[in-house]
Amino acid sequence: MFVSDSVAPRRPRIQSRAEASILHADLDSFYASVEQRDQPWLRGKPVIVGGGVVLAASYEAKAFGIRTPMNAGQALRLCPHAIVVPPRMSAYAEASKAVFAVFHDTTPVVEGISIDEAFLDVSGLRRISGEPIDIGHRLRAQVADQVGLPISVGIARNKFLAKVASAVAKPDGLRLVEPGGELDFLHPLPVQRLWGVGKVTSATLHANGITRIGQLAELGEPHLRAILGPAAARHLFALSWARDPRRVETGTRRRSIGAQRALGRRPRDPEEIAAYLDGLTDRLGRRLRAADRVCRTVVLRLRFDDFTRATRSHTLVEATDASTAIRHAARQLLHTAQPLIAERGITLIGLALTNLDDADTMQLTLPLQARADNTLDATLDDLRRRFGSSAVTRAALLRSGEGISVPLLPD
Ligand SMILES: [Mg+2]
Repeated sequence: MFVSDSVAPRRPRIQSRAEASILHADLDSFYASVEQRDQPWLRGKPVIVGGGVVLAASYEAKAFGIRTPMNAGQALRLCPHAIVVPPRMSAYAEASKAVFAVFHDTTPVVEGISIDEAFLDVSGLRRISGEPIDIGHRLRAQVADQVGLPISVGIARNKFLAKVASAVAKPDGLRLVEPGGELDFLHPLPVQRLWGVGKVTSATLHANGITRIGQLAELGEPHLRAILGPAAARHLFALSWARDPRRVETGTRRRSIGAQRALGRRPRDPEEIAAYLDGLTDRLGRRLRAADRVCRTVVLRLRFDDFTRATRSHTLVEATDASTAIRHAARQLLHTAQPLIAERGITLIGLALTNLDDADTMQLTLPLQARADNTLDATLDDLRRRFGSSAVTRAALLRSGEGISVPLLPD
């Protein structure tokens, strides 16, 4: 099997996308809605699903202040006439499957968050499916028709806003946050709407007189840091200004990238081979960073005069997208293989980066922190992006160039 030598086309970074094309679709009171669907006599009544603990409550029950996960005794004190039904997990699993089938019919880019909730990226579907808001309306209608359940949809330029929008739209609604209108939408909302603000944080914020997201945004990060500590301050401050760079992840993205170079049959000295390897490293490092990925494993592939092959791999302690770290590992592998090369002669050198992960999951979990853009790698990447990939090259490669990409050796 051949691994192709290109990365999948890069979807636009969410923070810079011009249109609101991320949907967050979330079934309303999922378990309770399934029960009301399957047992019509429960419709319009306060329904609690669960035993000792409330797993789900219908909107009629929520109106009495019943929340999940509350214990059932407390829930029944709030609403003595609530109807408690035991959970039927297999029915919920089946309903979830049917809803996800609708999601996947809507767009290929679906990121499931839980059994009843997903992000959908509908950018690029305008010509086929219409505006995101039309897609959102249609999705709600299809879930109602085909599965018989109410689902709320939020649409925005990033995931965080889309999720807040779907929560605001509930029950059974749709809310579009227009580009440019993000802060008008967000700032009047209570701070509890921010991801990561639970009971403790909201109590702390309230004690400091901060109840709305807009107040938190105006306070500024340094003041916030004094109240919440640096990590939470950075995270919440970014969200309060509607900044959330995470993209919709389908979980089916490529696991490795590679490049190689044919060397012909004439003898090469070790420095020349090392220079070719450095060229491959630079190229792959650039592609890794352009795709916002990090790698754990560096694989060196060699082909010899007698057409035999060898691979050497090294797994790094920590995932990286830094060319220096990759180059160091690649050079080490080459060094170890040098006796073999001297003995058999080399006709092809290849490098693959595997065990790929998203840079976001490494760098942008908590706190939300964009990658440093003043590093050497970023500077070189930027130069190449602006002036072409041959704008900057290694001195050792000036005469020979970095070579043309050829398909990778079979695994
Ligand atoms: Mg839900």
